[in-house]
Amino acid sequence: MKKAVTKTMISRKLLWNQGKKKLRFTIRVPAWRRKLIKKGGRMKFSEIPYERIDFQKLKQDFYSLMERMERAVSGEEQFEIHREYYRLSNHVLTEMNLAMIRNDIDMTDEYYSEEQKHYDRNMPIFQNLVVEYQKKLYFSRFRPYLEERIGRVAFKNISLAMEAMDEKLIPLMQEENALSTAYNKLLATAKIDWEGEKLNLSLMQPYLTSPDRSVRERAWKKYTAFFSEHREELDDFYEKLVQNRTKQGRMMGHENFLPLGYARMNRNCYGPSEIRSFRKQVEQEIVPLAELLHERRRERLGLSRLNYIDEGIYFPNGNPRPVGTAEEILAAGKRMYDELSPETARFMNTMCEMELFDVLGRKNKRTGGYMTMLADYRVPFIFANFNGSSGDADVITHECGHAFQGYLTADLPIREHNDLTMETAETHSMSMEFFTEPWMPLLFGERAGDYLRMHLEETLSFLPYGVMVDEFQNIVYEDPGLSPKERRRVWRDLERRYKPHLDYSGNPYFEEGGFWQKQHHIYDSPFYYIDYCIAGTDALQYKNWMDRDWKSAWESYLKLCRAGASDFFDVLIRDAGLRNPFEEGCLRDIARGIREREAL
Ligand code: ZN
Repeated sequence: MKKAVTKTMISRKLLWNQGKKKLRFTIRVPAWRRKLIKKGGRMKFSEIPYERIDFQKLKQDFYSLMERMERAVSGEEQFEIHREYYRLSNHVLTEMNLAMIRNDIDMTDEYYSEEQKHYDRNMPIFQNLVVEYQKKLYFSRFRPYLEERIGRVAFKNISLAMEAMDEKLIPLMQEENALSTAYNKLLATAKIDWEGEKLNLSLMQPYLTSPDRSVRERAWKKYTAFFSEHREELDDFYEKLVQNRTKQGRMMGHENFLPLGYARMNRNCYGPSEIRSFRKQVEQEIVPLAELLHERRRERLGLSRLNYIDEGIYFPNGNPRPVGTAEEILAAGKRMYDELSPETARFMNTMCEMELFDVLGRKNKRTGGYMTMLADYRVPFIFANFNGSSGDADVITHECGHAFQGYLTADLPIREHNDLTMETAETHSMSMEFFTEPWMPLLFGERAGDYLRMHLEETLSFLPYGVMVDEFQNIVYEDPGLSPKERRRVWRDLERRYKPHLDYSGNPYFEEGGFWQKQHHIYDSPFYYIDYCIAGTDALQYKNWMDRDWKSAWESYLKLCRAGASDFFDVLIRDAGLRNPFEEGCLRDIARGIREREAL
């Protein structure tokens, strides 16, 4: 679910010929494109050349852009320089993403592991250069013209970026990157001894949700043992991350990390108070409903009590799984998007032709899944670990939702209109999960109905969990002096409020409040979690809408996707005909709709 927001390469360099007052285009044909033209088709992902970014040279290029920006005599001239900035920064992000993807595909590949380290070390330099450059834009004497061309959101984002970044933070940011990389590496290299095989955490998933309760019990025991054995290391990584981020916050003049964390999440149209009241709405409106759904699930499972090992299981005969091999699942996905709309059909065609999926679970592959953009090629890439669970279908629905939106707007001439904030990005993907529901028989056969039930229950019961992850981080960063033990207590107390049915009997590690240590976002991406809850609220609104009128809901969705980040989140969703999730009563109405439909 990680999403990098990067895009669009302009291969034509626009030159403003002042003397003659006319535009002249020079066509630069990069090597990859020449190869592509010669082949008469689209390049495959494996054929995409990679070159390490030379950050010293990049610095010079940026300085020269900045100098020209200052010398420019009109807004038009500055805008043309700005287009060169698009080209330069897209290239850096493309090469960084190539290195990241290839490293994630095989974490033992030494070449790309070194490349990944190269970006861990140097990306803060790049980020700082971007901020320095953006200052020139922000303080330009032609600002009104630029704001007209580029949009007001971009300028608000620049002011947040200036709050979020400073050269003096670089050493700490480098350390922060290295710490999250080390955390991920620890999790990725987990080898769980399972019936003679060594499995990583992703590959354990089917056993954690096995219909056979005794298998689930054994699987959770082994799974938790890994975390429990590494508890000190995991505590230590987090302690260092919290102290590191707190120091960064203080260097920027704040009492703690929170304001910096919010600025880094680019919260450009809402803040802590809106989020606090949203969390309250979830606690009041959704927690009771989710508890009813858990109770119904318990009855369905024929259990006298739900234990934590039953948390991810929805039917006594097991959760519905996609039918067929990974290749067949992909083929089903292709047919689904072919039928869904002409736009999705074109998108899927490109993804398949260029082999922009790496979705098979393998040893040595990073866990998790994400979609990212290869801006120079104007295409998305989807990374996942298929493991035979319904998560495989989520890749076809959720990650493809991100990718579809990225594909739709990859050619937008204003790059900033692709700088999505996360709640907007997750709205695209989580809503796609619902829009694709009519095609679930293709993926789940006769258990499609079960899948839809599970999907709705999962989406709803996710809201309290997501809000809890957010509140946990707020508490942790507000009080960085908490000890690891106190943090665990905070987590466990939150669980009692937001997921009162939870029963950790037989698992001291979770009972003591250790569950959060497996949540990547808490380590990697502070405060990136409430976004899923806001987006889930939008997606549930679409769910209610499409039950009334699928076609008009889809048209609204297309409009929202095409708008990208051309305006602020509240405006975008209002224009699409949705309610603002922060608005009092929004969650009450969603809950009411679901209670009516589900007869709860
Ligand atoms: Zn996502």
